[in-house]
Amino acid sequence: MPEQLGIAFGTSVPTTDLTRVRLPRPPSLTTVCGISCGMSARHFFGTLEAERVTMLVDTRQTATYRDARFAYRDDLAYACERHDVGCAHIAELAPTADLRAAYHKVADGKSAGREDRAVAWTAFLHGYARPVVKDRKVLRDGSPLRELLYGSHERIAFLCACQHHEDCHRRVLLGMIAKHVDGVAVAHLSPENVGGIAPQLKSPRRYLLEAIPVANVSASHMPGRRTA
Ligand SMILES: [Zn+2]
Repeated sequence: MPEQLGIAFGTSVPTTDLTRVRLPRPPSLTTVCGISCGMSARHFFGTLEAERVTMLVDTRQTATYRDARFAYRDDLAYACERHDVGCAHIAELAPTADLRAAYHKVADGKSAGREDRAVAWTAFLHGYARPVVKDRKVLRDGSPLRELLYGSHERIAFLCACQHHEDCHRRVLLGMIAKHVDGVAVAHLSPENVGGIAPQLKSPRRYLLEAIPVANVSASHMPGRRTA
């Protein structure tokens, strides 16, 4: 019902503040899933099949790094084709190069402690949530994401290379979709679903010192850290 969606955006809600948007229940979509490409192709496509995912959205900043293996851009597209799964790369769902650089500048530093890394990780996820929801307006009328959410797929998976969803921007993205689109559930798909090994969290990167309300993501304070 594109007319109704247009009204929701055009008149009742200022387009500069998508954090206040509530979009109606999509006609087909029930679940947005997160998945890592850091597993074997067998486990990856086995998981997609077991979870009845028919569309894969790549949210990586780049898909042409050396150890991408089956998830190297063209190979991934080909493998999806062979497994009858749709495949799209939506660049505006990836973190920016600046954000990644700022995080790694701290986290990869020799003298960085877990507090420094947790602060940098928190800044990274906040920095991601802000442009995705506000500046890039990824749920705007006619955006690639919105077209997909209101298309024919019941279950769509969003891909990144990070093993664990708590170490990845995809958790924020999925939370943001579920928060702003009615009737959509979130599922984090893991290799253990199809007999693989559960991924490990990269502590202390997982410590998120402040909640991200626009994505319903809560803070995860470091043990022993004094909170205000
Ligand atoms: Zn990631």
